[in-house]
Amino acid sequence: MKNAPMSRKMTLLVLQDANQSVKQIQVSKPLVITVPLVALLSISGLIVSLQAYSSHTAASLEQELQSSNTQLQAVVTDKEEAIRRLQHQLVTLTAESKNMRSQIKKVSQMEDELQQIINKFRTGNSKTSEAATPGDSSYIGGEFIAVHDVDSRISGQATRDDYAEMSALIQAMLHRVPAMVDQAEAIHESMSGTPSLWPTLSRRMTSSFGYRTDPFTKKAAFHAGVDISGEIGDPIYSAGAGTVLQADHSPARGNFIIIQHPGGLQTWYMHLNKIQVNTGEKVTKGEVIGKLGSTGRSTGPHLHFQVVKENEPVDPVPYLN
Ligand SMILES: [Zn+2]
Repeated sequence: MKNAPMSRKMTLLVLQDANQSVKQIQVSKPLVITVPLVALLSISGLIVSLQAYSSHTAASLEQELQSSNTQLQAVVTDKEEAIRRLQHQLVTLTAESKNMRSQIKKVSQMEDELQQIINKFRTGNSKTSEAATPGDSSYIGGEFIAVHDVDSRISGQATRDDYAEMSALIQAMLHRVPAMVDQAEAIHESMSGTPSLWPTLSRRMTSSFGYRTDPFTKKAAFHAGVDISGEIGDPIYSAGAGTVLQADHSPARGNFIIIQHPGGLQTWYMHLNKIQVNTGEKVTKGEVIGKLGSTGRSTGPHLHFQVVKENEPVDPVPYLN
């Protein structure tokens, strides 16, 4: 076989099947070299560009992650500071709540003592009165004996619970104290025996205290009390607690009662239709002591009511409610 000049063409035989004919395809030699080369170069280029793209994406992702991380760290720092601040406030509040609790305890103890004093004077027997009203006083004390150890449970819930409990205690005090003040005032009044209750149903004053024209003589005369008109048989009330000094009858006063009050004052009730107490008898404020009438030196049904202070009649009106 001689050396033929190198052919510019190459023949490709394509065998499809055993029974079919062989196809011959002639292609130029440079094309056979060029096509794979171009393909190879294209693939290489693609790989290089993909690598470049992925490294760029990775870099930007890393940058974003770093930025987010910095932001998160700033947020965490803020939160930690806020938590520290809140913890500090909580400690302060807990200390304050402990202080408040102690103060409320003191007030409650004073309230307890006041209630005991009131009970003692109200009944005149401290033992029975303490037994009579155990609810209020023992209830108050009980609430405070069960003091929680605030220091050992510094938590928001514990402090909230403390405040809720203290608020309830203060509310209970606000509810109880006015009633106690009323009781104390009532005791003071009964102890001092100052007459203050209006002694009749009717409030119609027909003659006031002081100088006036006498209804019988028509001459100037001193009226030592007030006249309150009313219906015969109307109840007459004791203006204050005291002792019946005199329950009697005289031509001028008619049926009359004099009550001696513990503070030194006397109240006089005249022209009564009926006397319902006896000399020496103790009366309470508001107790019915007789019936309104027109006995003695009287022109019609009325009560002559008089207050005597150190043996001198004084205007009763300022004493009456
Ligand atoms: Zn009179």
